[in-house]
Amino acid sequence: MVVADSFAADVVMQELHFDWLRGVRLAVLRLDLVDPELSGNKWFKLSHHLAAAQATRAPGLISLGGAHSNHLHALAAAGQRFGLATVGLLRGTEQDAPTVRDLQRFGMRLHWLGYGGYRARHQPRFWDAWRALYPNYHCVPEGGGGLAGALGCVTLVAQLRARLGEIGWDDYEALWLAVGTGTTLAGLVLGEAGNHPVIGALAGPPAHAVPDNVRRLLDEAGTADAGYRLVDASRGGFGRFDGELARFILQAERDSGLPLDPVYTAKALLALRASIDAGEWDVGSRLVFIHTGGLQGRRAAEEQLLRLRG
Ligand SMILES: *Cc1c(COP(=O)(O)O)cnc(C)c1O
Repeated sequence: MVVADSFAADVVMQELHFDWLRGVRLAVLRLDLVDPELSGNKWFKLSHHLAAAQATRAPGLISLGGAHSNHLHALAAAGQRFGLATVGLLRGTEQDAPTVRDLQRFGMRLHWLGYGGYRARHQPRFWDAWRALYPNYHCVPEGGGGLAGALGCVTLVAQLRARLGEIGWDDYEALWLAVGTGTTLAGLVLGEAGNHPVIGALAGPPAHAVPDNVRRLLDEAGTADAGYRLVDASRGGFGRFDGELARFILQAERDSGLPLDPVYTAKALLALRASIDAGEWDVGSRLVFIHTGGLQGRRAAEEQLLRLRG
């Protein structure tokens, strides 16, 4: 199967109804439903990397991540589907986790780098040994980042516009999504080309890394226009969960059948609720929430969420 063909895959758009919307209209672009195994923004971030690997006849792809990584999960699933070998360089020491079991099932070769070894990933010679061990493999940056990752997300804007009619909308005021590195957000800013603001809800503590990354990606793409802003959605740190977050996830699922992951999408939607509570949106405003997926990573957190719910 050629990678590009599979991108005709339809994305689902739905209007959501929550009692906290206060007259604001909210639709969700369900990237979590794109495919049972290759879901979320990671699939779109990988599309150009996969096409490049196919075009150069690379025998496989190699990348890095943690034991619950949505990125490695999507990469391993894509490799299996498109007949490309995959190698995962993992943070820390060998551990058993639902994601790790999937990576193995998808046929990914795993190397555990320890913590120090993983920190060395930014050193200039880091890749030499891996390139020697896996000649001609296509190296994908952590999280599927870089310009190729952002460009894979540009198409989302056209896809969501094409679906607006299905929910009876002819326009919207802003896009809202969870942000890790800002690569997906940069792709949406490029796709919007200044037509609508893109609001990124930070899953980690506010720092310069995200705006720096977004600026670099927009520069590389030859666009000066920013057209975006960032809000803090981190709730005490990346991957930190609390009772309010746990109850919000279980409530959203009951109210609207919308599954959320605790690291990214739930925090982003909770930050959107706070923005509505703060009166930042007029009654009748139409917001599109990009559900970036990540549900495979929720499995490892399920017990903790039930405990936190109280
Ligand atoms: C990786 C991820 C993000 C963050 O994407 P970036 O492009 O790094 O900002 C958001 N949501 C989910 C579910 C993710 O897996």
